[in-house]
Amino acid sequence: MTTISPLIAGNWKMNGVSQSLDELTELANLLTTGEAPRAVVVICPPATLVAAVAAQGASSGIMAGGQDCHANASGAHTGDVSAYMLADAGAQFVIVGHSERRADHGETDDQVRLKAEAAIGAGLKPIICVGETEAQRDAGQAESVVAAQLAASIPDGAGQHEVIVAYEPIWAIGTGRTPSNDDIAQMHASIRARLVDRFGPRGNEFRILYGGSLKPVNAREILAVENVNGGLVGGASLLAKDFYTIISAV
Ligand code: PGA
Repeated sequence: MTTISPLIAGNWKMNGVSQSLDELTELANLLTTGEAPRAVVVICPPATLVAAVAAQGASSGIMAGGQDCHANASGAHTGDVSAYMLADAGAQFVIVGHSERRADHGETDDQVRLKAEAAIGAGLKPIICVGETEAQRDAGQAESVVAAQLAASIPDGAGQHEVIVAYEPIWAIGTGRTPSNDDIAQMHASIRARLVDRFGPRGNEFRILYGGSLKPVNAREILAVENVNGGLVGGASLLAKDFYTIISAV
């Protein structure tokens, strides 16, 4: 199996104003004074802070990402931000298809795929999110739901580019609850198998992140699960100390 360098991405969601960059300074200090991180470190702040995070993070190896992008490069889409604009601001990654976007903005798998294609076109690495609801898990449908999301949300061209998958069970996001390590292992193995089915051996090289209440207390064991190639961290990415503990758990 190919060795995949792990990646830890912080999703600040709609949190963070200019003062939050103090946390970034603290994270940069921790990363540069402590043991060298074994993970690629990404912060996805609100769009208003992408340029600042990209500029301020560069010297400590912290990379910036967007939390969403429009599928078009430019045009009459009031309030939206395109992948090109994120890239222009210094982003290298962009989250697409987060369950909060799917729920709050009715985003479909088809739209997510178009956003991922736009991201690739702009030179960004998309982090494509998938995950089941609690009702779907209870009904034994978690793997089939995620498989359908993967099939429709990942572009056909993904094999030629760096595309990251994030498995985030919706019921674990912001709740303090997580699946068991066995359930995480089973889902990540299922995602891996589908990626290999579709993309051949290249499917072994995709990072599959786990997200959903990843915290300093559980990071070490979750990040050690087979086929977990890093994490997408919400709440615990807002405090430099907590996020650094998670990064160090890799
Ligand atoms: P959480 O969020 O870590 O606060 O559960 C994760 C996410 O939504 O990406």
